[in-house]
Amino acid sequence: MAEHQVDAVVIGAGPGGYHAAIRLGQLGKSVICVDRDEVGGVCLNWGCIPTKALLHVGEVIRHIDHAEAIGLKVPKATVDRAGVEKFKNDVVASNVGGVKTLFKANNVQFMYGEASFVSPNEIALKGKDGSSERIRAAHIVIATGSAPIDIKAWPRDGKRIINSDDAVGIKQIPKTMLVIGGGVIGLEFATVYTRMGAQVLVVEALPQILTGSDLEISKTLGRILKKQGVEIMLDTKVAALETTAKGVKATIAGAGTGGKDETREFEMALVAVGRRPVTDALNLAAAGLAVDEKGFLAVDARMRTKVAHIYAIGDVTGQPLLAHRAMKQGVIAAEVIGGDTSAAFDPIAIPNCVYTDPEVATVGLSEEEAKAKGYEVRIGKFPLAASGRARTMNESDGLIKLVGDAKTDLLLGMHIVAPQAESLIGEGVIALEMGATLEDIGLSIHPHPTLTEGIMDAAEAAHGKAIHIVNPKPKAPVGAAK
Ligand code: NAD
Repeated sequence: MAEHQVDAVVIGAGPGGYHAAIRLGQLGKSVICVDRDEVGGVCLNWGCIPTKALLHVGEVIRHIDHAEAIGLKVPKATVDRAGVEKFKNDVVASNVGGVKTLFKANNVQFMYGEASFVSPNEIALKGKDGSSERIRAAHIVIATGSAPIDIKAWPRDGKRIINSDDAVGIKQIPKTMLVIGGGVIGLEFATVYTRMGAQVLVVEALPQILTGSDLEISKTLGRILKKQGVEIMLDTKVAALETTAKGVKATIAGAGTGGKDETREFEMALVAVGRRPVTDALNLAAAGLAVDEKGFLAVDARMRTKVAHIYAIGDVTGQPLLAHRAMKQGVIAAEVIGGDTSAAFDPIAIPNCVYTDPEVATVGLSEEEAKAKGYEVRIGKFPLAASGRARTMNESDGLIKLVGDAKTDLLLGMHIVAPQAESLIGEGVIALEMGATLEDIGLSIHPHPTLTEGIMDAAEAAHGKAIHIVNPKPKAPVGAAK
């Protein structure tokens, strides 16, 4: 049995793990990164990257569908499933290859295998062929991520009842599809499959899609998705799901006339009801660790678990389950291991993006959250319909909404439904981190013509000063910013 001794071992090569490993290598530490699957984890292989490749295909289909409106005669797009699959797989392969190159360049040794603790400083690594190796390390970083929650009563068969790992494979494009869960995964795949020609119903148990997001933003997205042909039922539960010869039969609670249960048949059902942390194979007890009641590992701001030389980062440490949070946590853990006494994960704001078409991007407090925290809010809104740049793109449906503190004028949250929202939100992240006021944002000269001007207009609208929209009656006199 081969044995290794290194400064640090990182368990999991997803976005959190590979960031930690690369930074450890940059800091001159000897580091082994292990994974029982492909380098890149869910993000690169089954999540962020492949879904965005599919969503890009969907967006191109939409542009082709709407080409006539901008004076182009283009035949209707037909989906070559194998061609789309190849494009997506090539994108994944080049991203995975990129991380492997960075591993090499930074002296990170990657080893395939399933890791489990033997003791607080030693892990056993079981290879696919049954081989076993031991790695001793002064520091261990757990970055084992999350997996889709499967519902026991509705066993996944990968064909008729699928989860997000299956959906990204687009092995078939069903004529009809039920999406259970109106969260980010449900809505992103509803967008992909609708664009590819499926008739999609999204059933969400709670009263809004994207629960937790600003209500007005959630409603704006819901309205746009419905216009695109996605059927959405809110406050409605899928109570039962069974497979049939042709697909699935779903009992949708209270969806029928008079609030009676309705039974509907679909070719396929996607279960998108959340993700769970993955720690199953780790044998945490041997390290002196245990998960909390939700299955997550508790860490401090320096990413240390209760065993000081064992760190945990990313989805396994709790909400929000976002790749960019994991990435930053990975870097912090590496820097703490490297001896940086001030490194800590202490963000003011973590942005959240949903890659529907148009995208939704948010950072900071929603209007509802700000009010619940006792703020007197000052709201600035700018509908995309008033944006010259949006009109040139023939993409005028959307909303930019800023939530500010009426007392201090400080920005509390930025919420966007717009094309490129995922890039536009970068301005909100910086503004929140730097403590910008709505007035600061309004006074900053934004390039013309761009969608970013809408952020400036929304900030100005909060003070009744927007130029491109008719201002709502200001609560405070014009000019009284503070
Ligand atoms: P989610 O928790 O965001 O949404 C699941 C939804 O399913 C909830 O709104 C819930 O009310 C609903 N639901 C549960 N049981 C139901 C039932 N029987 N009938 C109808 N509705 C039901 O979970 P998700 O969408 O699976 O995403 C999981 C995680 O992955 C999230 O934390 C998200 O942050 C992360 N993620 C992020 C991105 C991104 O940043 N773009 C993309 C994918 C995933």
